[in-house]
Amino acid sequence: MFHETVTHASGESRGNASESHGLLLLRRALKRGHAIEVTPAGGARITWSRMGHGGRALLRSITLAPHTPVGILTDDTVQDLNVIDTAANVRYGVRDGRRIITAGLFEVPALTTARYRARSLVTADRADRVRLTLTARLGLLAREHQDTDTGLCACGQITARPATPEEAHSLTRRHREAVAADFVTGLSATFAAAVAAS
Ligand SMILES: [Zn+2]
Repeated sequence: MFHETVTHASGESRGNASESHGLLLLRRALKRGHAIEVTPAGGARITWSRMGHGGRALLRSITLAPHTPVGILTDDTVQDLNVIDTAANVRYGVRDGRRIITAGLFEVPALTTARYRARSLVTADRADRVRLTLTARLGLLAREHQDTDTGLCACGQITARPATPEEAHSLTRRHREAVAADFVTGLSATFAAAVAAS
């Protein structure tokens, strides 16, 4: 679940967006060519401009902030989440009477499983099939593309050498928007269906 803030002519309105509504907003933004920026908390900000009276451009935005921010994603957590995201058959199982996440021989210990659930990084359907939440996926993406001291992106994909901090900032912003658009494009039909069904 997200806190949703929408800006419009007379100010802004606030509400809640379910995971599936959040996904719908991201897909609609992609289709309309609006800029998407993911946040380290596991949310997103969609921005676009429209012509107002007198030809002035008005900036509009929709901000999705997760009710439960992903928090610090350690290397161990990222490794676990990547397995959960890519393994074929991820489920809840029981070990010593406590719930664990399993994927073949891979197991997440009970305490860690409980923590991931409490942080809303994972969720499961009625058949106990486990998947990452949209929030977890957005948080992972933001972590991969976080700021560095140079103002460029931590992923190292920007190879240009900007002359000024402003240029670095704008390069990074455009790079992140491209990465976020790719992310939304790449969300599988399986994931979308699982989100819609939850
Ligand atoms: Zn990057």
